[in-house]
Amino acid sequence: SGNFFVGGNWKSNGSKDSVSKLVKDLNSSKFPSDVDVIVAPTFLHLPYVVDNIDPRYQVSAQNCWVGKAGAYTGEIAPEQLLDLGLQWVILGHSERRSLLKESNEFVGEKTANALAQGLKVIACIGETLEQRESDQIYDVLDGQLSGIADRIADWENVVVAYEPVWAIGTGKVATPDQAQEVHAYIRKWLSEKVSSKVAGATRIIYGGSVNDKNSAELAGKEDVDGFLVGGASLQAASFATICNAN
Ligand code: 13P
Repeated sequence: SGNFFVGGNWKSNGSKDSVSKLVKDLNSSKFPSDVDVIVAPTFLHLPYVVDNIDPRYQVSAQNCWVGKAGAYTGEIAPEQLLDLGLQWVILGHSERRSLLKESNEFVGEKTANALAQGLKVIACIGETLEQRESDQIYDVLDGQLSGIADRIADWENVVVAYEPVWAIGTGKVATPDQAQEVHAYIRKWLSEKVSSKVAGATRIIYGGSVNDKNSAELAGKEDVDGFLVGGASLQAASFATICNAN
């Protein structure tokens, strides 16, 4: 299902100094040319990163507005991200779903809008610990996937990121078997609800406490097509190891 894909989600981290150092370190990192590597700085740092990072990297925003540019105070529209030279946006991250109350429908609308305007989308889904332990995991994932699938027809520019909330920033990485089980479920869902072609072609990446020590074993699983990395993406050496995990 396409090139191995590694995204670095910098979240709300970074200063002018730390971002320029990270970009410098990333520019001297090595990874195979058939791995797609994406970095997602804050909106504030995007212009600097777009202008200074080596073109082996693609650049992503961490969110965008649900429509066109206009009178939407505090928002950034997809066309503005494209104008800056970005290719990607992360949508539906669990931190936005939980802290900013983004619904499945809203994430689906944003995904449809971003794709229509020409961005590629890293669409995030994942269950909380409480949902997993009360056997709601597949209902939750179904709802999150339907929010997107009901609103888009073309999946060519979508990467699905499975990020179990209990694994994000906790050091509690999913075991390779746990990740594989859910990734296989997502692929089956896509096959049944969208098409077998889309199921085969769509990259399904894992996120949640991925680091330079655990990435190789996770990457060995059949349906793990890459990673979305938070904390470890702020360290160029760790991130480079993850980009070489496949
Ligand atoms: P951590 O790698 O810090 O657990 O974060 C994962 C994540 O949320 C990436 O989007």
